[in-house]
Amino acid sequence: MKKIIKCKNCGVIIESKYTYDYVTCKCGRCSVDGGHSYLRRSFNNSTDDYE
Ligand SMILES: [Zn+2]
Repeated sequence: MKKIIKCKNCGVIIESKYTYDYVTCKCGRCSVDGGHSYLRRSFNNSTDDYE
């Protein structure tokens, strides 16, 4: 299962392709980690930062 999000702040699409593939977008607001069965999304300010 691919995990992909798009950061609304910098517009970069980041994708975690495999387990423990931790990817952060260009501005650093959003990140995705493929090491879990769920999609973990990190953000600094609000949920509006990603989609
Ligand atoms: Zn970003």
